[in-house]
Order: sequence, then C-alpha cells, then structure tokens
Amino acid sequence: MRNSQAYLECQVVDISTHGDNMTTIKPELGADICRRAIAKWGEERQRDMIIEEASELQKALLKYRRYDRTEEWRIKCVEEAVDMSIMLDQLLMMLSSQQEFDKVRRYKLCRLSKMIDGDMDHQTCENAERDDCCLV
Ligand SMILES: [Mg+2]
Repeated sequence: MRNSQAYLECQVVDISTHGDNMTTIKPELGADICRRAIAKWGEERQRDMIIEEASELQKALLKYRRYDRTEEWRIKCVEEAVDMSIMLDQLLMMLSSQQEFDKVRRYKLCRLSKMIDGDMDHQTCENAERDDCCLV
C-alpha cells in the first residue's frame, strides 16, 4: 500500500505546462524511493550496483569521446550520470547522514574554490588538516 501511494505521488506534478511532457518527483519522495530500494535489495547488493553503474558511466563517457560526441552518446552519458547520482544518493544514505554529507561537501567545495583561485595547490590541500584548508 505504501509503495503504491509513493508511486502515485510520483505522478502528481506534471510540468507539461512548461512544454515538457515529463513528471517531477519531489526531492523527499526521491529519498523515500532510495530508502525503499535499499530495503528491498539490501545494502550489499546496492553497493554492487554502484560499482556497476560507475562502470556504465565510464563506458558511456569513453564512447561519447570515441564517437565524436554524437547526440546518441551524449544522451547515454546523461542517463548513466543520473543512474550514478541515484546510486550515490543510496550510498550516502547507507554510509552517512545528511548533516555529515553537507559538512564534507562544503569543505570540498571550499577547497576546490581555493585551488581554482590559486590560493592553495592540490598537494597543500591534501596535506592540510580540514580546518587549515577551509572552515567547515
Ligand atoms: Mg546505468
């Protein structure tokens, strides 16, 4: 019953008025679907799926480059990146909390920004304590 309800909620938001025939899934529903996938197939199997999806994304990116960036392979890359994103959401649910994820993400983005601006090179960042590199 709960699963059926969630599926129906997926169909609620229709953005066809914006010229697109796709439906939108609310972020909280996406998280619920990821939790249900982990519950259904288990953590070990989902971790294996992450590796499989990473491999599919690698293959699509290589084909995209090899076949002169055709539209077919561009679309395939997008699809595989989305698969990977969904699996990463599940991985983070299994290994972390949203609070920890947000904290590490802020640190990593701050560090990247400093490297882009030339304020810190990659090796310095690798050797620095987190607080020395960026406030988190
Ligand atoms: Mg895939």
